[in-house]
Amino acid sequence: MRLILLGPPGAGKGTQAKRLAERHQVPHLSTGDILRSEVKAASELGRQVDSKMRAGELVDDDTISSVVDRRLAQPDAANGFILDGYPRTIRQANALEGVLGSQSLTAVVELMIDEEELFARIEARAREAGSAGVRADDNSGTLRKRLAAFIKETQPLSAFYKHRGLLFKIDGSASVEEIATTIDDHLTDIRASQPSAARKGE
Ligand code: AMP
Repeated sequence: MRLILLGPPGAGKGTQAKRLAERHQVPHLSTGDILRSEVKAASELGRQVDSKMRAGELVDDDTISSVVDRRLAQPDAANGFILDGYPRTIRQANALEGVLGSQSLTAVVELMIDEEELFARIEARAREAGSAGVRADDNSGTLRKRLAAFIKETQPLSAFYKHRGLLFKIDGSASVEEIATTIDDHLTDIRASQPSAARKGE
Protein backbone atom coordinates (compact mmCIF):
# COMPACT_ATOMS: atom_id res chain seq x y z
CA MET A 1 0.00 0.00 0.00
CA ARG A 2 1.67 3.18 -1.17
CA LEU A 3 -0.77 6.00 -0.88
CA ILE A 4 -0.62 9.78 -1.15
CA LEU A 5 -3.28 11.99 0.38
CA LEU A 6 -3.69 15.32 -1.37
CA GLY A 7 -5.81 18.25 -0.32
CA PRO A 8 -5.71 21.71 1.22
CA PRO A 9 -4.76 22.31 4.86
CA GLY A 10 -7.67 21.40 7.12
CA ALA A 11 -9.31 19.03 4.63
CA GLY A 12 -8.98 16.05 6.96
CA LYS A 13 -5.96 14.30 5.42
CA GLY A 14 -4.44 13.54 8.83
CA THR A 15 -7.56 11.82 10.15
CA GLN A 16 -7.87 9.61 7.09
CA ALA A 17 -4.13 8.93 6.93
CA LYS A 18 -4.06 7.73 10.54
CA ARG A 19 -6.95 5.38 9.99
CA LEU A 20 -5.52 4.01 6.75
CA ALA A 21 -2.12 3.45 8.32
CA GLU A 22 -3.66 1.36 11.11
CA ARG A 23 -5.84 -0.57 8.74
CA HIS A 24 -3.04 -1.43 6.32
CA GLN A 25 -0.24 -1.69 8.90
CA VAL A 26 2.00 0.83 7.20
CA PRO A 27 3.44 4.06 8.66
CA HIS A 28 1.61 7.36 8.48
CA LEU A 29 4.19 9.83 7.21
CA SER A 30 3.10 13.38 7.88
CA THR A 31 5.82 15.81 6.85
CA GLY A 32 4.11 18.52 8.95
CA ASP A 33 4.34 16.27 12.06
CA ILE A 34 7.96 15.39 11.33
CA LEU A 35 8.90 19.06 10.96
CA ARG A 36 6.93 20.10 14.06
CA SER A 37 8.80 17.55 16.16
CA GLU A 38 12.10 18.85 14.78
CA VAL A 39 11.07 22.40 15.72
CA LYS A 40 10.11 21.21 19.20
CA ALA A 41 13.44 19.46 19.62
CA ALA A 42 15.21 22.63 18.41
CA SER A 43 17.32 20.52 16.05
CA GLU A 44 19.29 22.15 13.26
CA LEU A 45 16.53 21.22 10.80
CA GLY A 46 13.89 22.52 13.21
CA ARG A 47 15.62 25.87 13.52
CA GLN A 48 15.98 26.04 9.76
CA VAL A 49 12.25 25.50 9.02
CA ASP A 50 10.61 27.20 12.01
CA SER A 51 10.06 30.65 10.52
CA LYS A 52 8.72 29.32 7.20
CA MET A 53 6.26 27.11 9.04
CA ARG A 54 5.08 29.92 11.28
CA ALA A 55 4.57 32.11 8.23
CA GLY A 56 2.56 29.41 6.46
CA GLU A 57 5.13 29.15 3.68
CA LEU A 58 6.50 25.97 2.15
CA VAL A 59 9.87 24.66 3.24
CA ASP A 60 12.24 24.34 0.29
CA ASP A 61 11.93 21.27 -1.90
CA ASP A 62 15.43 19.84 -1.37
CA THR A 63 15.17 20.04 2.41
CA ILE A 64 11.80 18.35 2.63
CA SER A 65 12.62 15.75 -0.01
CA SER A 66 15.72 14.65 1.85
CA VAL A 67 13.68 14.35 5.07
CA VAL A 68 11.22 12.10 3.21
CA ASP A 69 14.00 10.07 1.52
CA ARG A 70 15.52 9.30 4.91
CA ARG A 71 12.15 8.35 6.36
CA LEU A 72 11.23 6.09 3.43
CA ALA A 73 14.56 4.28 3.79
CA GLN A 74 13.59 3.07 7.27
CA PRO A 75 12.55 -0.58 7.49
CA ASP A 76 8.95 0.08 8.57
CA ALA A 77 8.27 1.81 5.24
CA ALA A 78 9.46 -1.14 3.18
CA ASN A 79 5.94 -2.49 2.72
CA GLY A 80 4.34 0.84 2.07
CA PHE A 81 3.25 4.14 3.59
CA ILE A 82 0.52 6.71 3.77
CA LEU A 83 2.00 10.07 2.77
CA ASP A 84 0.22 13.08 4.25
CA GLY A 85 1.49 16.53 3.26
CA TYR A 86 4.06 15.33 0.75
CA PRO A 87 4.55 15.88 -2.13
CA ARG A 88 3.38 19.48 -2.23
CA THR A 89 5.08 20.69 -5.41
CA ILE A 90 5.77 19.17 -8.82
CA ARG A 91 9.48 19.09 -7.96
CA GLN A 92 8.73 17.07 -4.85
CA ALA A 93 6.53 14.70 -6.85
CA ASN A 94 9.36 14.16 -9.34
CA ALA A 95 11.80 13.60 -6.49
CA LEU A 96 9.44 11.01 -4.99
CA GLU A 97 9.20 9.18 -8.30
CA GLY A 98 12.98 9.10 -8.43
CA VAL A 99 13.19 7.61 -4.94
CA LEU A 100 10.48 5.02 -5.49
CA GLY A 101 11.95 3.86 -8.78
CA SER A 102 10.11 0.81 -9.99
CA GLN A 103 7.88 0.66 -6.90
CA SER A 104 4.65 2.17 -8.08
CA LEU A 105 2.18 4.15 -6.04
CA THR A 106 -1.12 2.43 -5.27
CA ALA A 107 -3.20 5.59 -5.53
CA VAL A 108 -3.37 9.32 -4.90
CA VAL A 109 -6.50 10.34 -3.03
CA GLU A 110 -7.49 14.00 -3.27
CA LEU A 111 -9.86 15.47 -0.69
CA MET A 112 -11.66 18.39 -2.28
CA ILE A 113 -13.16 21.10 -0.13
CA ASP A 114 -14.14 24.70 -0.66
CA GLU A 115 -12.37 27.65 0.89
CA GLU A 116 -15.25 28.91 3.04
CA GLU A 117 -15.67 25.57 4.74
CA LEU A 118 -11.92 25.31 5.29
CA PHE A 119 -11.86 28.59 7.20
CA ALA A 120 -14.81 27.49 9.32
CA ARG A 121 -12.99 24.24 10.16
CA ILE A 122 -9.71 25.88 11.06
CA GLU A 123 -11.41 28.47 13.22
CA ALA A 124 -13.35 25.74 15.03
CA ARG A 125 -10.11 23.78 15.49
CA ALA A 126 -8.42 26.84 17.00
CA ARG A 127 -11.36 27.45 19.37
CA GLU A 128 -11.51 23.82 20.51
CA ALA A 129 -7.81 23.50 21.15
CA GLY A 130 -7.75 26.62 23.32
CA SER A 131 -5.00 29.15 22.82
CA ALA A 132 -2.26 27.06 24.52
CA GLY A 133 -2.68 24.02 22.31
CA VAL A 134 -3.19 25.71 18.97
CA ARG A 135 -0.66 24.99 16.25
CA ALA A 136 1.48 28.05 15.61
CA ASP A 137 0.22 28.13 12.03
CA ASP A 138 -3.49 27.56 12.79
CA ASN A 139 -4.90 31.05 12.56
CA SER A 140 -6.86 32.61 9.75
CA GLY A 141 -4.06 34.95 8.61
CA THR A 142 -1.54 32.15 8.21
CA LEU A 143 -4.17 29.81 6.84
CA ARG A 144 -4.75 32.26 4.01
CA LYS A 145 -1.06 31.96 3.15
CA ARG A 146 -1.10 28.18 3.45
CA LEU A 147 -4.11 28.08 1.14
CA ALA A 148 -2.42 30.35 -1.36
CA ALA A 149 0.65 28.07 -1.32
CA PHE A 150 -1.64 25.09 -1.81
CA ILE A 151 -3.40 26.64 -4.80
CA LYS A 152 -0.20 27.78 -6.47
CA GLU A 153 2.17 24.90 -5.72
CA THR A 154 0.15 21.83 -4.76
CA GLN A 155 -2.99 21.96 -6.86
CA PRO A 156 -1.03 21.22 -10.07
CA LEU A 157 -0.29 17.78 -8.58
CA SER A 158 -3.87 16.83 -9.25
CA ALA A 159 -3.24 16.95 -13.03
CA PHE A 160 0.21 15.38 -12.56
CA TYR A 161 -1.25 12.27 -10.92
CA LYS A 162 -4.36 12.22 -13.11
CA HIS A 163 -2.03 11.93 -16.06
CA ARG A 164 -0.49 8.87 -14.41
CA GLY A 165 -3.91 7.27 -13.87
CA LEU A 166 -3.50 7.40 -10.08
CA LEU A 167 -5.85 10.20 -9.04
CA PHE A 168 -9.03 9.53 -7.06
CA LYS A 169 -11.03 12.62 -6.07
CA ILE A 170 -13.35 12.65 -3.07
CA ASP A 171 -15.75 15.23 -1.66
CA GLY A 172 -13.88 16.31 1.48
CA SER A 173 -17.00 17.86 3.01
CA ALA A 174 -18.56 14.42 3.53
CA SER A 175 -18.35 12.85 6.99
CA VAL A 176 -15.15 11.17 8.18
CA GLU A 177 -16.91 7.78 7.97
CA GLU A 178 -18.27 8.41 4.48
CA ILE A 179 -14.86 9.45 3.21
CA ALA A 180 -13.24 6.42 4.86
CA THR A 181 -15.74 4.07 3.19
CA THR A 182 -15.26 5.73 -0.20
CA ILE A 183 -11.47 5.33 0.07
CA ASP A 184 -11.75 1.70 1.21
CA ASP A 185 -14.10 0.88 -1.69
CA HIS A 186 -11.69 2.46 -4.14
CA LEU A 187 -8.73 0.52 -2.75
CA THR A 188 -10.73 -2.69 -3.00
CA ASP A 189 -11.51 -1.89 -6.65
CA ILE A 190 -7.82 -1.27 -7.35
CA ARG A 191 -6.81 -4.59 -5.78
CA ALA A 192 -9.49 -6.41 -7.75
CA SER A 193 -8.33 -4.87 -11.01
CA GLN A 194 -4.64 -5.72 -10.54
CA PRO A 195 -3.10 -9.07 -11.29
CA SER A 196 -1.69 -10.58 -8.08
CA ALA A 197 1.91 -10.25 -9.32
CA ALA A 198 1.49 -6.47 -9.52
CA ARG A 199 0.35 -6.40 -5.89
CA LYS A 200 3.50 -8.05 -4.58
CA GLY A 201 5.10 -6.06 -1.82
CA GLU A 202 1.92 -4.15 -0.99
P1 AMP B 1 1.07 20.47 7.43
O1 AMP B 1 0.94 19.98 8.84
O2 AMP B 1 1.15 19.35 6.44
O3 AMP B 1 0.01 21.49 7.08
O4 AMP B 1 2.48 21.23 7.33
C1 AMP B 1 2.77 22.33 8.16
C2 AMP B 1 3.87 23.17 7.52
O5 AMP B 1 5.06 22.38 7.35
C3 AMP B 1 3.57 23.70 6.13
O6 AMP B 1 2.80 24.89 6.15
C4 AMP B 1 4.98 23.92 5.59
O7 AMP B 1 5.57 25.08 6.15
C5 AMP B 1 5.72 22.71 6.15
N1 AMP B 1 5.62 21.54 5.23
C6 AMP B 1 5.07 20.32 5.50
N2 AMP B 1 5.17 19.50 4.45
C7 AMP B 1 5.80 20.21 3.48
C8 AMP B 1 6.18 19.92 2.14
N3 AMP B 1 5.92 18.72 1.57
N4 AMP B 1 6.80 20.89 1.43
C9 AMP B 1 7.08 22.09 1.97
N5 AMP B 1 6.74 22.44 3.22
C10 AMP B 1 6.10 21.51 3.99
